[in-house]
This record gives sequence, structure tokens and C-alpha cells, in this order.
Amino acid sequence: MSETRWAVLPAGRAAGARTRGARIGDEVIVWSREAEQLEGEAEELDGEAEQLEGEAEELDGEAEQLDGEAEQLDGEAERAGEGTARSELSLVTQVGRAFQQAHPRIPVILDHGRHLVIDGGKTLRQKEDTCWRVEPLLPGVTVVDRPARHPGRVDPIAAGLVAAVSRPPYEADTTWLAQLPTRHSTSAGFGQAADRAAAALDALGYATSRFPVTVGGGRSANVIAEKAASPDVVVVTAHLDSVNIAGGPAAAAPGADDNGSGSAGVLLLARLLAGLSWEHTLRLILFGGEEQGLFGSKQYVASLSPDERSRIRAVLNMDMIASRNGPQSAVLLEGAAVSQSLIDDLAAAAATYTGLRVETSLNPFASDHVPFIQAGVPAVLTIEGNDSANHHIHSADDLLDHLDYELAMEILRMNVATLAGWLRPAPGPAPRPAGPVVSWAPGRLDVFVTGADHGLYHKAWTESSTTEFERLGGLPGGS
Ligand SMILES: [Zn+2]
Repeated sequence: MSETRWAVLPAGRAAGARTRGARIGDEVIVWSREAEQLEGEAEELDGEAEQLEGEAEELDGEAEQLDGEAEQLDGEAERAGEGTARSELSLVTQVGRAFQQAHPRIPVILDHGRHLVIDGGKTLRQKEDTCWRVEPLLPGVTVVDRPARHPGRVDPIAAGLVAAVSRPPYEADTTWLAQLPTRHSTSAGFGQAADRAAAALDALGYATSRFPVTVGGGRSANVIAEKAASPDVVVVTAHLDSVNIAGGPAAAAPGADDNGSGSAGVLLLARLLAGLSWEHTLRLILFGGEEQGLFGSKQYVASLSPDERSRIRAVLNMDMIASRNGPQSAVLLEGAAVSQSLIDDLAAAAATYTGLRVETSLNPFASDHVPFIQAGVPAVLTIEGNDSANHHIHSADDLLDHLDYELAMEILRMNVATLAGWLRPAPGPAPRPAGPVVSWAPGRLDVFVTGADHGLYHKAWTESSTTEFERLGGLPGGS
């Protein structure tokens, strides 16, 4: 009978062990199970035993080496934990504390909120659940990374949009959404929320439409708004529905954070991005049926032709962006290999324009970015850091009182700066002189004008040179 020896080490000190361990945030878990498992298999399979034994010995050696490394590290740094598991280790990805609530007796070896390492869970790997997933813990993977901050060049248009991110309209939308008794996907409240969002998007000049969604025997809808430009499309999404899992469809479900916060985020980004011309088409989608199993996004993605899918450059999904679950404002960027460049762009924008602490994961789960990723479309989720510490979601207690609007503003600053890069400002009309301000200095002439995009532009002439118009920022969309 073999057991799994494991140790949790600080990631910074465990660089050498990382290839055989799994990194989760600031920690690396290393374990020795594989060698023992292979030995067991070798004993069973007499015919192929020699080869496997060879491999097992090799791995055994690695395991010993790993043990050695761990012991060595012990001297330098405290281990976060170590022990012996009774069975194979598994990786859990969960929404809230859904897995721990469903399986309170399964020992948790490493708790990183949305991600857990547990002792066992092999029989749960085949189970389908919308709120948790169990899979083998693989060596050499980074489940959650914490990339170093690399601030980039400040782009004037992105900086102008970042400066225009403002709390009052966002707070008003979140408040309106959360005062509905419920936005359960098939409820009257969901219909009211969809009507109000569609009217707001319509008033901003977007072409709006409804996409019918089937939720079991009931009906819901996606609200879609588009500002058409090139055939290439950038999609911004959030789910509009809320849920009270214990209370059922009629129970109170304010859904302030999940996902009033993301829905109001779509509306705020819609306001900011409506005021400028973009090279690529911008599409905003508020999904229904998310809480019942991603019905709105699954049915939407299924409706797209291969050509329509291939024209989507990026999908930015927001699900829970306004609850601060730790001492620092933090965000998790979650995607897959297909969305690695989107994650990199968001992390760079976070470092350039915000003070957010960023974690990343290529283990997509349980929100509307997943159906896009499964169809090969680059999609990424932006979600508040340490979301599993938010105990209020999916209940009558997901209230406005628990929101931290400044965290939402930070995530929206990161998102709008990134979207400006993905959408690319259209070359558009040259700045239009509207009440120009001119100043002279000896041998120099400076002109300041308001552009057609309501931004402030500057152009200068000297005796020997002339500058192009440079955008100095200003409020996109104006007022
Ligand atoms: Zn959600």
C-alpha cells in the first residue's frame, strides 16, 4: 500500500522543485506519488515489468532528489506544510466554497480559494457539477501564477479612457440591479434588467438585439449591443442573471457582486467606448442563464458560424469584480493557452494604469469565457482576487454593502485600457479646431484644440520643426 508524501514550499525558494511540483500562487506543492504508483503498476504487469521498473527506479531517484531538495529548503525556509496523504492528490477548481460545502470531509492540503489540492477525490473526477471540478494534479503545471509587474508605455488614448472611469454611473447601475428582488434567469426581474440595459445601450448609439436562451423548460435572453466597424470583433461580456441556490428561483437574489458588478461594468465600458471611433467592431453581451450552467453563452457560441467565430479577436468577460477579499486590491485573469496574449495584455495594463495585484490561471472554469475557449476563441475572465473568500454570493446576502467600488474601478481601468489596444483607435477625421488656444514664445507657436473625439490635442511649430497632433487626454464622449 503506497502513500503520497507531499510538501508545500514557498514558490520563490522552490524554483528547483517547480518542474516536478505544481505552482499555486505563492506556493509550490511537491509530492512523490508518481514513482510509487509506477512501482505498483510494474508489479502487476509482469510482462512489461522490466521497462516500467526501470522507469520507476528513475522516478524513484527523482522523488528522492525531490525529497532532498525539500529537506534542503526546509533549512532555508519554513514549509507552509507537509504530510502524507492516504491517496492520490487532486486539483479542485470551485466557485465560492462550493466544493468544500459539498464535501466537507475530504482533507484539503492546499487552500488557494478558487483552487484547492485535496487528498483523494479520484471518484469525483467524472462528476459534472456547475460549481466545482476535480481533476488529477499534474506535476510541472502552474495552476495559478503571479506575474511580475512590468509597466508599459502610457498610451494617451488609453490614459484618457482610464481617467474617465467614474464611480457614480457605475454605482447607480449596480444599485438599480441589486434592488430588483431577483434577476433569476427566467424571472420578471431578469426581464426588467434586460429591458433597462438594452435601453441604455440603445441610447448610447449601439445597435441592440435580443438572443433567446432556453433554460431547462424556461426562457431567458442575452442582450447584445454592437458598434460596427471592421469585420474583426472584440467582445465584452458579463452575465446579467443572479441566483439564490438554497432558496430557489423565487427567493431573494440581489446579486450585487455576482454579477451586478460585472453587468454594470459592461454598461460603464459601453459609455466610455461609445465616444471614440474604433478600427474593430465592438460587441457587448449580457448573458442570461449563466447560473444554471452557462446556457446563454453556450447557446450563443453554438449559434456562430466558423467564420463568425474566427473573426472574434478577443472576449473579455467580467464576473464578480467588486468584492475585495483581502488586504490588497487584486484580480485573477483566467483563460487558456489560446488566450495567453490577452492575459499578458491585461497584466501589462494593470501594471501601467492600476495598483492591482495580478494572478493568472490557464484553468478556465464556470463562467461565460469557457464556451468561447472550448470553441477555440481567445477569451479571458477578469474576477476579483481570492473570490472564494466571498461567502455572500448565490444567496440573499450578496448585497451592495459588501461591495468595494474602488476595486471595481481599478479592474475597469485595467479593462478599458486593454480594450483600447484590442479595438485600436480608428485613424478617423483629423482633429477639428473648436475654440483653439494658441500661444507664442520666441521662435515657437503652440496650438491646443478639441478633437472630433472630444480629446484635447496639441500641435507645435518652431523655426526648424513641426510636431504632429498629439492627444493630451480629455473625456472621451464629452458631455
Ligand atoms: Zn457569476
